[in-house]
Amino acid sequence: MRVYFDYNATTPLAPEVIEAVNTASRDLFGNASSVHHYGQQAKAAIDEARSAISSLINGDPSEIVFTSGGTESDNFAIRGAAEALEVTGRRHLIATAIEHEAVLNTLKALARRGWKTTLVPVDQTGIVSADRVRETISRETSVVSVMHANNEIGTIQPIAAIAAVAHEHGALMHTDAVQSTAKIPVDVRALGVDLLSLSAHKFNGPKGVGVLWIKRGTRMLPILTGGKHERNRRAGTENVPAIVGLGVAARLAARKLEAEAVRLAALRDQLEQGILASVPGTIVNGDRQARVPNTTNISFERVEAESLLIALDLEGIAVSTGSACSSGTLEPSHVLRAMGLSTHRTQNSLRFSLGQFSTAAEVQQVLGVLPRLVEKLRNLTKTAVPSRA
Ligand code: PLP
Repeated sequence: MRVYFDYNATTPLAPEVIEAVNTASRDLFGNASSVHHYGQQAKAAIDEARSAISSLINGDPSEIVFTSGGTESDNFAIRGAAEALEVTGRRHLIATAIEHEAVLNTLKALARRGWKTTLVPVDQTGIVSADRVRETISRETSVVSVMHANNEIGTIQPIAAIAAVAHEHGALMHTDAVQSTAKIPVDVRALGVDLLSLSAHKFNGPKGVGVLWIKRGTRMLPILTGGKHERNRRAGTENVPAIVGLGVAARLAARKLEAEAVRLAALRDQLEQGILASVPGTIVNGDRQARVPNTTNISFERVEAESLLIALDLEGIAVSTGSACSSGTLEPSHVLRAMGLSTHRTQNSLRFSLGQFSTAAEVQQVLGVLPRLVEKLRNLTKTAVPSRA
C-alpha cells in the first residue's frame, strides 16, 4: 500500500470536487461576463463558490477575489497594497523570516524597486511575537505580512496581536493562510487582518485557483490589468470549473473541519510519538502546541534527510524535506535556519503532513519501516570512507 504523507505540498481532489469540476467543465462553458444565458449560468456558479469560500472564512462575498492560487494571492496582496499606498509616502514592508517564497521573493522584488523591507526573526519554536514587529514598524510601513501557519513546521502565528500592532501604525495587515485554511478555523474578522491569501489545492480543491480576501474599503491596485473582472480587481476570464471546485472544497471543509482536526491530530500524534519512541536521536521541530493538527517536522540525528526521503519513497511512502520548492536540492530549509537550528539539524529534518485520506494503518506502515531505514542509513555513514575534500 502506498502512503501519501505530503498534504502540505498538495492534496488529492475530494471525489465531490472531481464531480463538480467535471460537470462545470462540460456544462458551464459560458464566459461569466456574457449577458446571455450561458454567461449568466457561469456567473451564478462563480457566485455560489464566492459565497461558499466567504462563509468558510467569515468574509463577505463582495470581498473575495479569485486568483490563480496562493502565489498570486500573496503577490497581489503585497504588491497591490504597497503600490496603492506608495502615494502616501509609506515605502516600508515587514514580513517574517519564515514566510513562503511567494512572500519573500515579492519583498525582494519590491526592494529592488526602492522599497525598504524588514524580515522579523522568529524564536526557536518558529513563532514571531507582536513585540518583535513593534520594534521595527513605523509610520512608513505600508504592509505587514505574517503567515497564519507555516508550511514546513505547521506553527501558528499570533496574527490578531500582530494585526493590532500594524493598525496602531496605520499599516495594512496581510496573512498567508494557505496552510491554515480548512485545517483550523480561519476567521478574517477574529484575525483582524485586511488581506488574506488561500489556495484550493491545499484543501482537496483544484490546483491553480485561490483567493485573495480583501477587506471592504482597502486601497489596492490590481497587479493584472485588463478587463473589469472581479470588480476591477483581477482581470482575466474566470476559470469557472476551478472556481466551482474551490467552492465545493470550501463547503466540504466547513462541514468537516472540527472532526477532521481532532482525527488528524490523533493520527499525527500517534505517528510523532511512535517515531520519537522507536527511533533514537529524533526531535520535533517547532512549537508542539501552537501548530496545525496535520503536521509534524522531525529531525533525525546523523541522517541526511534527502537520503531518508528517497529510502521512504522506495518503500512507497511519500514525505517531504519541508518546502516543496526547495526539496530536490540540498539547500538547508530557510525556516529551520531562521529558528536558529544547527546546519546539521536543518538538513536532517523531514516533514510528515497528513490529510483527508490518511489512516491509522498508514501510520503503522510508516512506523513499521522507519526505524530500520534510519538504522541502515546511519550504519552506511558510519562505514563510509571519509572523503578527502
Ligand atoms: N504560501 C504557502 C504558505 C504555501 O505553503 C504555498 C504552497 O506551497 C503557497 C503560498 C503557494 O501557493 P500555490 O501553490 O497555490 O501558488
